[in-house]
Amino acid sequence: MKQRLLIVEDDEMVQALLAAYLLREGFAISLATTGKEMLACVDSEKIDLILLDLGLPDEDGLTLARQVRARSHIPIIVLTARQGKSDRLAALEVGADDYMTKPFDPEELILRIRNLLGRTTQTETGEHTVTRAEIYHFNSWQMDLTAHTVINPERSQVPFTRAEFNLLAALVKAPNRVLSRAYLLDAVSQDADSPTDRLIDVLVSRIRKKIETNPRRPEIITTVLGCGYKFSADLN
Ligand code: CA
Repeated sequence: MKQRLLIVEDDEMVQALLAAYLLREGFAISLATTGKEMLACVDSEKIDLILLDLGLPDEDGLTLARQVRARSHIPIIVLTARQGKSDRLAALEVGADDYMTKPFDPEELILRIRNLLGRTTQTETGEHTVTRAEIYHFNSWQMDLTAHTVINPERSQVPFTRAEFNLLAALVKAPNRVLSRAYLLDAVSQDADSPTDRLIDVLVSRIRKKIETNPRRPEIITTVLGCGYKFSADLN
């Protein structure tokens, strides 16, 4: 089954070019030109990923990204003509997964789309839907997302709470990408009564004590000031 992308863009020319390109790449496409259409589409169709223009006529793209994130985990790539660094941070803060500035290289966009879909989608075999076995190796550690285990370099299983596990899983699935506290909260929020950004800092600190050689000078989960956290170890 084809994966469906929703293109939210009020510039018909850009929308048409993007749609033609993505159709050729084998995706199914839905189109919206306003925030209202976009939300209607998200509620009525099975959308796998949203390409969101920030400059829409009726509503700011950042507000829309936040509204989508409040109701689902659909990956969002923000596309914008704005060059500012603060816009990029703002987009990641409200839960967008990635950000590209226009004009962008279509091939790079495809790569980013496939990267996001790869870590969020499931493959279908017949009538059953199976998740890929997901085992990650870093710094001689092993994290098995299916078995819910974290194994240290001495081959012992290290106990993780569900929230700690989900947070580390979110980081490890997006190596070398800055993830905002808002995004990380999404990953663990089902485990918390009243999730706050502070919770993420506390969880990160607890995880660092378990997996970092020197938790005061972390090398696996690094802090990106004013932005969030990043999984910085090599996966092998
Ligand atoms: Ca626009």
